[in-house]
Amino acid sequence: VKRRELSVEEYQEGVLAGDRVVLAQAITLVESNALRHQDKAQELLRRLLPRCRDAIRIGVTGVPGAGKSTLIEALGTRLCDRGHRVAVLAVDPSSRVTGGSILGDKTRMESLSRHSNAFIRPSPSGGVLGGVARKSRETMLLCEAAGFDVILVETVGVGQSEVTVRSMVDFFMLVTITGAGDDLQGIKKGIMELTDLIVVNKADGANLIRANATRADYEQVLHYLQPATEGWLTGARTCSATTGNGIDELWQVVEQFKRVTRESGVFTRRRQKQNLEWVYTLVREQLEKNFFSHPAVKTAIPAMEKGVMEGTIAPTMAALQLLKRYSVE
Ligand code: GDP
Repeated sequence: VKRRELSVEEYQEGVLAGDRVVLAQAITLVESNALRHQDKAQELLRRLLPRCRDAIRIGVTGVPGAGKSTLIEALGTRLCDRGHRVAVLAVDPSSRVTGGSILGDKTRMESLSRHSNAFIRPSPSGGVLGGVARKSRETMLLCEAAGFDVILVETVGVGQSEVTVRSMVDFFMLVTITGAGDDLQGIKKGIMELTDLIVVNKADGANLIRANATRADYEQVLHYLQPATEGWLTGARTCSATTGNGIDELWQVVEQFKRVTRESGVFTRRRQKQNLEWVYTLVREQLEKNFFSHPAVKTAIPAMEKGVMEGTIAPTMAALQLLKRYSVE
């Protein structure tokens, strides 16, 4: 059955009332690539922006199998039970590349999704990371307007997705496990430098001792790295998403982070910087799109590529000529 399309007012009222069905429809509107929907979505966001609640935005990354969804489910359920309203979003640009998304396909977080305080949304299928990220940022705002005060953004380490998610959250958490080649050498130093907390998951049963050793190793390495957040010492913790051990302690770290960075002003400054970055990212993306879809540029590209590959035209000259076609015509 085709649903009647809601008006902007209806979206606005439903989202502000925390209606999860309307929220889901509003997200679909924001994710739509149709021009008509985009105008409506922007009008909706303009109206909702002053009403966005002050949520904490948390990024969660880690290799497939580390236990991200199990951990999010365990943490999310606890928070919902205590009266928080938890939204779980995913940023997964892999779906187009691999033909199947890494995060989205399996049935995940079943018990959390049934909780009346939770809202779970799979990754938008934007294809490229830029598109996925834009949609996820706007989805985050919709969730905040709907009264969700904890936003968990899950991602996998595909391409630049970790850097992108870092640029849209307050707190960034790396979920890792011990053994299976996923020890220190397997983790990119660059990711550790984006991270506010390293979580060694699956610290249970026969794995407990090794998990504690891995945690100590991380603590060591972290001493030598640039911290991700000014005035905050990134630490490593162990937990078990399946037994629930250590999960409450993870949340205590988040709360402490919030206190420390709010007091120092780092929290607010990061948000401000993120918003400006978002603006310039959008501008850059649009300029690039305009450039490559410009007719005079498009027609010149085959000859230019051939010339550069054969060495008959220098790359700098080729770039200048393309740019000239764009600015002249
Ligand atoms: P993701 O790909 O990172 O989202 O990982 P999943 O949450 O899907 O977990 C991968 C597998 O590890 C599943 O079979 C989980 O049941 C298991 N797992 C997750 N957390 C734990 C844990 O704390 N302890 C143990 N023993 N297994 C876990």
